[in-house]
Amino acid sequence: MATTLISGGTVVTATGRSAADVLVDGEKIAAVLAPGSTLLGQDLARSVDTVLDAAGKYVIPGGIDAHTHMQMPFGGTEASDTFETGTRAAAWGGTTTIVDFAIQRYGERVMDGLAAWHEKAAGECAIDYGFHQIIGDVNDDSLKAMNSLLDEGVSSYKLFMAYPGVFYSDDAQIYKAMRVGAETGLMTMMHAENGPAIDAMVAELLAQGKTDPYYHGVARAWQMEEEATHRAIMLANLTGAPLYVVHVSAKQAVEQLAAARDNGQNVFGETCPQYLYLSLEDQLGAEGFEGAKWVCSTPLRSKHEHHQDHMWQSLRTNDIQMVATDHCPFCMKGQKDLGVGDFSKIPNGIGSVEHRMDLMYQGVVDGKISLERWVEITSTTPARMFGMYGTKGVIAPGADADVVIYDPNGHTSIGLEKTHHMNMDYSAWEGYEIEGHVDTVMSRGKVVVNNNEYLGSKGHGQYVRRSTSQYLV
Ligand SMILES: [Zn+2]
Repeated sequence: MATTLISGGTVVTATGRSAADVLVDGEKIAAVLAPGSTLLGQDLARSVDTVLDAAGKYVIPGGIDAHTHMQMPFGGTEASDTFETGTRAAAWGGTTTIVDFAIQRYGERVMDGLAAWHEKAAGECAIDYGFHQIIGDVNDDSLKAMNSLLDEGVSSYKLFMAYPGVFYSDDAQIYKAMRVGAETGLMTMMHAENGPAIDAMVAELLAQGKTDPYYHGVARAWQMEEEATHRAIMLANLTGAPLYVVHVSAKQAVEQLAAARDNGQNVFGETCPQYLYLSLEDQLGAEGFEGAKWVCSTPLRSKHEHHQDHMWQSLRTNDIQMVATDHCPFCMKGQKDLGVGDFSKIPNGIGSVEHRMDLMYQGVVDGKISLERWVEITSTTPARMFGMYGTKGVIAPGADADVVIYDPNGHTSIGLEKTHHMNMDYSAWEGYEIEGHVDTVMSRGKVVVNNNEYLGSKGHGQYVRRSTSQYLV
């Protein structure tokens, strides 16, 4: 097996940083050593196959994006990144594992949905991948199937309080699913927005001729997120199910989560870069149909209400535990433009899988989170939350050699289509400047990106079988 020494860098973990060399043997990390260590009197650097010089750079566990939707069918079209293009873009940005969502649609069987997603991903991915299971039709058969998910390496399932007629579960269905979730040890993930009320408001706005993308944000008011978050928390409290609320964007929803956590409940929250940086006014409210680029649900929030500042603060105080992207890209031409003249027909989603590590590192530069917290919210907590820790999310002997060398003196300009690697005809992050750079990305011991060159291959990525959450007491 090939050996690599990552030498001279600063190893950063969720709990600290130190000058150390990292020895990689095959697909695993073999040792974390004092700089310049020798082996049986031999200079280690001379006895390995490859030396990667990390002097002046950070050596971190590869990013884990626990919320992506590659080639997901939505609104009469399909997310534009395939598993091949999406995982390649992820690798470019220092992410070495994604957890995507397999889907059971209404009238379908859960295990057929999971099998379909395995088929889409197998042999296509540049980096490792796991699956959460969306239960889009809670019925007796689905509830029975939930008992087999852990055997399939799927330790989390997701319900929707939004999208009536598509993925929506009513309170009775949520209650029943959570009962099973609590019994089996599955993490319940929740899209927490009051879908029926939102749909009523959408119809009102459209009837008034308010059809621009901006009104997507108006219709999905923060009250709808706070209310659903609270309801999910109460149902989780009643059933004893651990609860993970996806893409939290409203500060009032964070307050609900924080109160439940203070009350001792196993309740967690995820936010995404778009809710930290972007707003209803500046992006959704952009000229003409431009705002469609940023139509996603939950929506971007008003900057005048300071949700974005509150979200950064929540990351510091651990009221929000981690950051994923909800990567679900659609092109403007032929996809987003389905909603010209009717914002409710714009496919929901933003592409960010390539930029999450950089965008969150900028939070370190800006003094909003610490270096260690950056590693924790982008890699270590996602690994623990979803049952991969030890293999993923850490630089330690025995872990998969998923390693990123990050240059704090480098620079990354996020630009148009040509300068990113996601399969999109625009970038939601065009113009963002990052005071750092992903130099080298290693996935299970193989260098897949180095000095702005892609060295990976489709099919290298393997399915990750996950165990129950390691974040619970
Ligand atoms: Zn999503």
